[in-house]
Amino acid sequence: MTAGSDADAVVVGAGPNGLAAAVTLARAGLRVRVFEASDRIGGGSSTRELTAPGFHHDVCSAVHPLAFESRFFREFALPQRVAFAVPAVSFAHPLDGGRAGIAYRDLDRTRDALGRDGRAYDALVRPLAERSAQVAELTGSTLLRMPRHPLTAARFGLATLEQGSALWGARFTGEAAPAMLTGVAAHTILPLPSLASAGAGLALTTYAHARGWPIPIGGSQAIAEAMAADIRAHGGDILTGTRIDSLTELPPARITVLDVTPRALLRMSAHRLPAVYRRALEGFRYGNAVAKVDFALSEPVPWTNPEVRRAGTVHVGGSRAEIAAAENAVAHGRLVDDPYVLASQPSLFDHTRAPTGRHTLWTYTHVPAGSTADRTEAVIRQIERFAPGFRDTVLHTSSSTAQEVAAHNANYPGGDIAAGVPDVAQLLRRPVLRPDPWRTPLAGVYLASASTSPGPGVHGLAGWRAALSALRREMGVRQEPNLSPGA
Ligand SMILES: Cc1cc2nc3c(=O)[nH]c(=O)nc-3n(C[C@H](O)[C@H](O)[C@H](O)COP(=O)(O)OP(=O)(O)OC[C@H]3O[C@@H](n4cnc5c(N)ncnc54)[C@H](O)[C@@H]3O)c2cc1C
Repeated sequence: MTAGSDADAVVVGAGPNGLAAAVTLARAGLRVRVFEASDRIGGGSSTRELTAPGFHHDVCSAVHPLAFESRFFREFALPQRVAFAVPAVSFAHPLDGGRAGIAYRDLDRTRDALGRDGRAYDALVRPLAERSAQVAELTGSTLLRMPRHPLTAARFGLATLEQGSALWGARFTGEAAPAMLTGVAAHTILPLPSLASAGAGLALTTYAHARGWPIPIGGSQAIAEAMAADIRAHGGDILTGTRIDSLTELPPARITVLDVTPRALLRMSAHRLPAVYRRALEGFRYGNAVAKVDFALSEPVPWTNPEVRRAGTVHVGGSRAEIAAAENAVAHGRLVDDPYVLASQPSLFDHTRAPTGRHTLWTYTHVPAGSTADRTEAVIRQIERFAPGFRDTVLHTSSSTAQEVAAHNANYPGGDIAAGVPDVAQLLRRPVLRPDPWRTPLAGVYLASASTSPGPGVHGLAGWRAALSALRREMGVRQEPNLSPGA
């Protein structure tokens, strides 16, 4: 398709959800054109030399628990298109004195290493890990749908009630197991304990002990490129460096899919939206933020506990109480001296990330929305606590404040990488309380970003479901397009 010709469908935004929508529409035989504001595709799934030549850093997402579990990526056969490394240690949680909680993919080994809390951890996680596809189905659907596996939903619900309430410590006596669960729940940037953080944390812990937390060889950009290749192979095209500020800038098309926030839709549609829907979008809440720090290292991080050196992901911040205090301070709009730090060490598993013998480290920490604080020093201090000598391994750093994260991608207002608070209320109405939350009142216009159900993460589900809804309503296409590589 040439730049001037008509399209059957247009997509704004080439993040994982926009690309998933474009793949689905192109596979249905539509001529698709994607408009992306940035000079590169990928949105939250992109990789760049942020620190120095030869060091490839993931700009946003780094670890992909949903690459194997998302229904869209299973239909798309992502593992046949992108090579993944799956660390034997999904995540590690260093504690003072050289101790650590280690989430091996192998749950038996995790249980044995946890000592007296091993059985309690196992009893909580095993029933879910043995049904990880059902957990993914549950958490990947709108909360308004009847669960397809009610028993798994009930188990998941009870575990969430426990870990999301004052009962969260009841089953444990030691420090490591509760710290491990808190380190995962804290991904959500929500107060701790809370139901939504517990639910997301338990889902991620489930995947950690099922098919693991995969890391794409070459970086997260590889996931976006695989989708872009499929779009092009099926007649679609992608225009980068093209920011769309108003729906009137788009060529006429039967279907328009927007990988943007509700706030952006309000701006782009001017006053065309009905008042009730407009008010609902105006009431959509954005949350706290991340400040990111990337490192080029002369050698791997010298974690005191050697098992932490084998982990794809490391949750840094100490005990459950310390992490909860740090996250609750952020929830109250405060910066803390000892923050929770989420770290990934991809170059241990993927030699393409750094020059021979060198390494990369990806980290971020939570900060109040819109913060302009550079957290490099706080992150280094926290890592030093569990890896003395870390500072001496640092060759280069690259830091993004929350405000810079927001400036880099319009879908992260104030640096909110979840594109909207992912608490229970907003998981129910993401962005509006409807069985088809992707459809807007504007003819043929669908919203598909992480601000819509099922929420944040690189899974493509919002884009896929928005496209399926559009195909059904606008074209009468009831059959899901075949997305497999050979089709
Ligand atoms: C620092 C960070 C770390 C993360 N870590 C992880 C992780 O490890 N694992 C994980 O699964 N998820 C992670 N996430 C979350 C994940 O990246 C997002 O949830 C996911 O990318 C959302 O996909 P999306 O397509 O909805 O939006 P995005 O990926 O944000 O893409 C939106 C795209 O639309 C474009 N766009 C927006 N407005 C316009 C416009 N008006 N015109 C044209 N183009 C426009 C943007 O430039 C962007 O390319 C992380 C995010 C960040 C920022």
